[in-house]
Amino acid sequence: MYEKIQKHLRKEMESIREAGLFKEERIITSPQSGEIELNTGEKVLNFCANNYLGLSNHPKLIEAAKEGLDSHGFGMSSVRFICGTQDLHKKLEKKIAEFFGTEDTILYAACFDANGGVFEPMLTSEDAIISDSLNHASIIDGVRLCKAHRYRYNNADMADLEEKLKMAQEQRFRVIVTDAVFSMDGNVAPMDKIIELADKYDALVMIDECHSAGVVGKTGRGVTELFDIRGKVEIITGTLGKAFGGAIGGFTTGKKEIIELLRQRSRPYLFSNSLPPSVVNAGIKMFDMMAETHELQDKLHSNTSYFMDKMKNAGFDIKPTESAIIAVMLYDAKLSQDFAEKMLEEGIYVIGFYYPVVPKGQARIRVQVSAAHEKEHLDKCVEAFIKVGKKLNVIK
Ligand SMILES: *Cc1c(COP(=O)(O)O)cnc(C)c1O
Repeated sequence: MYEKIQKHLRKEMESIREAGLFKEERIITSPQSGEIELNTGEKVLNFCANNYLGLSNHPKLIEAAKEGLDSHGFGMSSVRFICGTQDLHKKLEKKIAEFFGTEDTILYAACFDANGGVFEPMLTSEDAIISDSLNHASIIDGVRLCKAHRYRYNNADMADLEEKLKMAQEQRFRVIVTDAVFSMDGNVAPMDKIIELADKYDALVMIDECHSAGVVGKTGRGVTELFDIRGKVEIITGTLGKAFGGAIGGFTTGKKEIIELLRQRSRPYLFSNSLPPSVVNAGIKMFDMMAETHELQDKLHSNTSYFMDKMKNAGFDIKPTESAIIAVMLYDAKLSQDFAEKMLEEGIYVIGFYYPVVPKGQARIRVQVSAAHEKEHLDKCVEAFIKVGKKLNVIK
């Protein structure tokens, strides 16, 4: 039996390679950081991690993780509702709600699970989900698992959203769902207009804060801070796997009745293991740090604008951004791959993205700036961009 499918699988792999879509994994031998070491012995500056605040290797979080291990053990061996809830889990949920100014929080193993388990418990075939066309894969999967009517509006296109809201008036409840920051362009969702339309057409709003929380807004509270709409969004999902330490873990935070129902009915919560104490204790420490100071956000924001200015002055075509994601537009797929390769030779690790990850003819290098970067790192990155850009005739 296996032979038949084996042949099929080999063919599939061939076609992935032929299409140039095979994803190689580079092997890192150091902790995740602004500067990393590869298994080839090379040391490179890392501009492609979601380590926006530089917390992935932060001594205070490592210490808190160790304390969590010592005081609460290694693993939970249980889901939350059987015997997988420690005082630490409750404490972290409360901290997350305080951070976002929401009523209650529920933890998941990852935001992929939070998004996968948020719609189905709450909505039925009588309801509607109105989703941005560039939303994350986990939102798309979550929508698929739910029987609600599906409407898709073009990325951040408010006229299109309004059209879809009009169509969805037939349904009982409506939920507009959007990424807060879109990961390929770095643009933020126009939350002020979304809230206005939600009011006008009687819809709930859900945002996915994964690339936004910790980054966007003066103190990193995300798009609800940026647009001054704290408390006006019913559902927020997010991850502990990006700016917030980068380990693992996801959450849904928002209106308390919604969170209560998720604890009873959300399948990834009910049927998957509880987060380990070390991760939870480090999470608590991380939110304490966020409550004390926003110096990491200040550093990240100044790093981002410093880098943007230098790149624009050098003549690069940069997409407008309000996050720490900077899209350096090259348009040509092959060029984006050559560019990234040459950047690595210069000691800079960045990734070139092209169709189907981004639209055809929209290939780019995505740069992710971090508070872990120092001025000299940013300068070195810009110098490499200029050198490679000239060599490949991208800039003069
Ligand atoms: C990364 C990401 C996720 C998944 O988060 P995990 O915690 O890694 O599962 C979900 N949504 C968006 C928008 C993301 O960028």
